[in-house]
Amino acid sequence: MKDIGIDLGTANVVIYEKGKGIVLNEPSVVAIDAETKKVLAVGDEANEMLGRTPGKIKAIRPMKDGVIADFDITGAMLNHFIKKAIGKRFIKPRILICCPSNITQVEKNAIKEAAMMTGARKVFLEEEPKVAAVGAGLDIAKPSGNMVIDIGGGTTDIAILSLGGIVTSESIRIAGNAFDNDIIHYLKDKHNLLVGERTAEEIKKEIGTVYQKTKKEKKEVKGRDAVTGLPKTITITASEIEEALSDDAMKLVRTAKTVLEHTPPELSADIVDKGIILTGGGAQLEGFPQLFAEELKVPVFLAESPLTCVAEGTGILLDHIELIDH
Ligand code: ADP
Ligand code: MG
Repeated sequence: MKDIGIDLGTANVVIYEKGKGIVLNEPSVVAIDAETKKVLAVGDEANEMLGRTPGKIKAIRPMKDGVIADFDITGAMLNHFIKKAIGKRFIKPRILICCPSNITQVEKNAIKEAAMMTGARKVFLEEEPKVAAVGAGLDIAKPSGNMVIDIGGGTTDIAILSLGGIVTSESIRIAGNAFDNDIIHYLKDKHNLLVGERTAEEIKKEIGTVYQKTKKEKKEVKGRDAVTGLPKTITITASEIEEALSDDAMKLVRTAKTVLEHTPPELSADIVDKGIILTGGGAQLEGFPQLFAEELKVPVFLAESPLTCVAEGTGILLDHIELIDH
């Protein structure tokens, strides 16, 4: 019986198979024909089309902000990935799906239904922060407080966990994509330079930081001049990017503070001792551990594999079905 776990993220879908490990890791992108609404490509293949598609083909991220923009397309995407991961099977698998924590009950039901249609024997749904914590190696079953900040593409989930459940949490729509947009706006306002999402993300990963001047790096950026319309190249520094990202980074800090304020004192004491764990791809932006540690006055650690720890967490939970909410 090969059960599988799925991290249905706003930016990436990662599938874990019991006994095998990670068997699929692709962007949550679907390319459709704008007229017929027919799905043309999913995942890596669809991602290649993003921003480069002719009028008739549209590449979309159906879970972009942690909300399901289009049920049919999300269902088609899930269906495609599950089939790709499990192939043809005689024994129907149990599937544990981890979804962004701010989606509605209606959206949850839609996800469950779509997964059942692929021939699953049973489908469990879990909330992302809990699974992220488990995947990052925390023992959430004990009566002791743990805090996790998961910075994904569309949403950041901040949660306090104890005794296998979420004690208090917040989810906000500021994460990796918002940082890309901050860079796009900064370059346009300060340098009259127009760049696309891919370039912005590249800049973020290469020289981005949210902690003042830890880096002295520079990067050449190519784009289109907003005034002349012609191609243009400029050199941008890490401290400029820090300036561009600081408002949104501080919003995450303030949300984390709110969560801590709503935490029962005994659990706060545990967090002072154990610290906060950061998960999600967005947490790999340089400087987050330092920024949160300085602002929240507690130790902060980056998970060992931020991009895959939710999927790994589903694997651990599948071995401990009693920890899953039924
Ligand atoms: P989700 O769970 O919402 O699908 P992920 O955890 O997969 O999101 O994280 C995706 C986000 O992580 C994207 O916005 C991406 O730009 C960002 N990201 C990935 N690697 C890095 C990096 N090295 N530095 C900064 N951001 C990164
Ligand atoms: Mg995620």
